[in-house]
Amino acid sequence: MARDECAEQTELLVVGGGPGGYVAAFRAADLGVQTTIVDESPLLGGVCLREGCIPSKALLHVAHLLEDAAEAEEFGVAFQPPRIDIDRLRSWKNSVVAQLCAGITKLAGQRKVRVIRGRATFEDSGTVRVAGADGGLIHCQRAIVATGSRAKRLPPAVIPTDCCIDSTGALALPNVPRALLIIGGGYIGLELGQVYAALGSKVTVVEMLDRILPGCDTDLARPLAAKLRKQFEAIHTSATLTSVRRGDSGVEVVFNKRGQEHQLEVERVLVSVGRQPNSDNLGLENTKVRIDERGFIEVDQARRTADEAIYAIGDVAGEPMLAHKASREGIVAAEVIAGRTTTFSARAIPAVVYTSPEVAWCGLTESEAKEQGRNIRIGKSQWGVSGRAVAMGRPYGVTKIIADAETHKLLGVGIAGEHAGDLIAEAVLAIELGAGVEDLAATIHSHPTTSETIMEAAESVFGTAIHAARR
Ligand code: FAD
Ligand code: NAD
Repeated sequence: MARDECAEQTELLVVGGGPGGYVAAFRAADLGVQTTIVDESPLLGGVCLREGCIPSKALLHVAHLLEDAAEAEEFGVAFQPPRIDIDRLRSWKNSVVAQLCAGITKLAGQRKVRVIRGRATFEDSGTVRVAGADGGLIHCQRAIVATGSRAKRLPPAVIPTDCCIDSTGALALPNVPRALLIIGGGYIGLELGQVYAALGSKVTVVEMLDRILPGCDTDLARPLAAKLRKQFEAIHTSATLTSVRRGDSGVEVVFNKRGQEHQLEVERVLVSVGRQPNSDNLGLENTKVRIDERGFIEVDQARRTADEAIYAIGDVAGEPMLAHKASREGIVAAEVIAGRTTTFSARAIPAVVYTSPEVAWCGLTESEAKEQGRNIRIGKSQWGVSGRAVAMGRPYGVTKIIADAETHKLLGVGIAGEHAGDLIAEAVLAIELGAGVEDLAATIHSHPTTSETIMEAAESVFGTAIHAARR
């Protein structure tokens, strides 16, 4: 082990201060473990706070506001067309990020968690070199790797780097491009596509699979797809990029859709084709940590790696790459390091796409259940029968329940509709508690709320839904 006269000592070193890392550090500190965080960014909060969850939701809030105002005309309320001051919008979004990052730094101080700025690399299992302003050598008894992920790139031969931006570039909101091409119809492409469409860009999506949002069941993506068809110029599925080059008046794009070549000229191209874990350039080869073929650090239920001194959490430790999954793993790792016997044993991790309408799901999807050969029953409630959804002018949605056909245990729930991301919490709790469909059907839900669709979907598993049509 490398030894250095002026090396710092810490019981726990957390590498990365995102929703995985800072949550782990705070939990460990609360349990009496002397803890240090190292992050190469001057702002704590990780990708999630700086260039992910939070700035995207701030901009989506504005996009939804613009959409609500435009749709109010249908209810007899007409507003003047909006005047968008892009500089003020950008400043407001930045102030939201700054406020939340400052809050995390304050909480770190209150817990006496030392925060070091710089880039960390492991010299061995218990020694980390930090390069940067606060640089130096740190000896630690335990380390948690929480270095997150970065945007995947397409080969420069297909799309030169100076012709495209990633989600960080899009969230920086440099301007509102006249025409925006988005490669990838997943979370980022659809959320940021709706933001830019609301601000005035003509948005086109090129998605290589035969549908958008491949992670959820097709019927859940349908209400969103219908809305996007009105908001976007076009959504090309089963389409792959052939070439991109900078032309005289913009970026010239050629893509192939089901054997036919299409051409397009846009002002900007956003590449959102997934993310890859930050497990390289970390010196992990100097430890016993094992990395799988996709770049994820291999961990057990306690988030221990193959090196007994090192734990890994969050995006770098496997999918789904979601902030709340990272945070839960942070709690687990911190508690295990503090001597508790905690494991990561979630039955359901919610996934939410914050578009309008939102799409949310948890537990098993119908396709996953079928792939596993399970005997299932499906219950659905269309939002057109929900008094609240109709009263809000948002009757386009569906709530769906996937249950075990014999035990009636809840296996999964999917919701497409207004605030689906908030509604899914009930389903996550129900699955965690091992509830059956009868439990959801017999639970009294407030009227009029869209949460009633969960009760109705549960009833429809048995064909007893009150608001379902009868033949
Ligand atoms: P990160 O948040 O990526 O943090 C890792 C930290 O490690 C960074 O601060 C980085 O600076 C630091 N770091 C990396 N390498 C080193 C090193 N060698 N030395 C020192 N520091 C280092 N998830 C959701 O759940 N909901 C959402 O709404 C959502 N929206 C998103 C929107 C966008 C545009 C993007 C890109 C992602 C979004 N995500 C969302 C995903 C979410 O951001 C990630 O799942 C989450 O940030 C992962 O947390 P983490 O702690 O693993 O890593
Ligand atoms: P994604 O995996 O959600 O979607 C990528 C899409 O790109 C897929 O539909 C895929 O089929 C398509 N694709 C891949 N290669 C392509 C190619 N060459 N040409 C055309 N299409 C291609 O990835 P993302 O949208 O980049 O987001 C990355 C991750 O960040 C997400 O998986 C998620 O974990 C996280 N995220 C979460 C949220 C949220 O929770 N609301 C929001 C944004 C990002």
